[in-house]
Amino acid sequence: MNTAKPQLSLYNTLTRAKAAFVPMDAANVRLYACGPTVYDFAHIGNGRAAIVFDLLFRLLRHVYGAEHVTYVRNITDVDDKINARALRDHPELKLNEAIRKVTETTAAQYQKDVAALGCLEPNVQPRATDNIEEMQRLIATLIERGHAYEAGGEVLFAVDSMADYGQLSGRNLEDNLAGARIAVDAHKRNPADFVLWKLSSAEEPGWDSPWGRGRPGWHIECSAMSERYLGQTFDIHGGGLDLIFPHHENEIAQSRCAHGTHAMANVWMHNGFLQVEGQKMSKSLGNFFTIHQLLETSDFGGRKWPGEVLRLAMLMTHYREPIDFTVKRLEEAYRILKRWNAAADDQEASVDGLPDARVVAALADDLDSSGIVGRLHEMVRDPQDIGSLTATLKLLGLHWPEWKKADGEAAAAMLASLRLSEGEITSNVQSRLDALNAKDFAKADAIRAELAGQGIVLMDYKDEQGQRQTRWEVKR
Ligand code: AMP
Ligand code: ZN
Repeated sequence: MNTAKPQLSLYNTLTRAKAAFVPMDAANVRLYACGPTVYDFAHIGNGRAAIVFDLLFRLLRHVYGAEHVTYVRNITDVDDKINARALRDHPELKLNEAIRKVTETTAAQYQKDVAALGCLEPNVQPRATDNIEEMQRLIATLIERGHAYEAGGEVLFAVDSMADYGQLSGRNLEDNLAGARIAVDAHKRNPADFVLWKLSSAEEPGWDSPWGRGRPGWHIECSAMSERYLGQTFDIHGGGLDLIFPHHENEIAQSRCAHGTHAMANVWMHNGFLQVEGQKMSKSLGNFFTIHQLLETSDFGGRKWPGEVLRLAMLMTHYREPIDFTVKRLEEAYRILKRWNAAADDQEASVDGLPDARVVAALADDLDSSGIVGRLHEMVRDPQDIGSLTATLKLLGLHWPEWKKADGEAAAAMLASLRLSEGEITSNVQSRLDALNAKDFAKADAIRAELAGQGIVLMDYKDEQGQRQTRWEVKR
């Protein structure tokens, strides 16, 4: 048994290279990931981001000790999309009550969804609306230091005031200029300047401030909340690829310019995107799926999917690669996860094993979860150490003691959706056995094909008396 702590190596978007990870303080390793904007059910792409950074959180806890890791994932509960949703869904309520209803319902749903995906609760889940003062303090500092200015009912960050703006995304200011709408942005000193604070109308949600009653821009939220809970510079900041620009670029600009630091976070990690059945997920293409839909409805592949299966379907691919999310992938994950858990201990509490050193080493190598599948197959084929197998599944968030119950329910649901009753199936199976025994192979094959067309798979075997028997199973 290898108990030596593995050296982590992580890919850093900022340097575009993989490097040994050295925490600023091994007694408090600090991770921040951008969380959901709570106006609607989270989709499975959001689910991927939650799973990737949960896996990192679990690995850090394993390596540094659970009490030596702080993971912060924010909840964005002020946003114009939220206001629009509140007006649409709750016209009978006052706007701020409607907003509270939308954000509370959606945030609770999010917690339930990501828990089902095996994600541990982060140490802190701050809400933007509880941190408005911190944001205002940051904005005031940025104005004081000449990095921000008031114009046209907004406070804007002046990108020209930061010599190395654009490092994370590799964009230069000319790139940004090309895309800007000059007429709309006439009040900006540079079209790439972005909003820190904007004035609210009487109907819009707002907070009093030195710049008038208004609300924060999106980027300033994460600068304020990460500073409050993790400090001015911390270890790792994560999110999906789409957040590199402008969100993370602008977080860096705000935090570094306000604090006069060289780094906001030392390592920036970004997960790849997820598409569905070969296409970008979009409502208009009809291939947009929420986590909730996959867990609770039959909209994707005609059945409900256990959260553990969704999680493995994500982890079979390295976090920086794109994922094509398909029914076939989920079916494969389902089969694999069943096999692993059938070999593991189904007692939640009984484990005293250590996670497998090779699985831990793969994870330590830039979170390479795609490499674990082969290793787990090996462990299951040669199940000498159930304790270690179980501990490994637990580390990965893939321990699934309820698999038998879930499997039974799924089989019953599938059976109910077939055209044949259970009695008809067994009588067909018997007719085929009779045909086989009479050497009428054409008839036997025809019955097998007929049943296969219904998703029923036959497996022949010999019983203790040497008699031919057939087991059947419903497969999709
Ligand atoms: P949002 O609520 O859109 O801010 O997204 C929350 C998190 O999900 C962010 O880290 C996004 O980068 C990530 N995300 C959004 N769409 C996808 C997708 N299709 N695939 C993977 N991650 C995504
Ligand atoms: Zn953020």
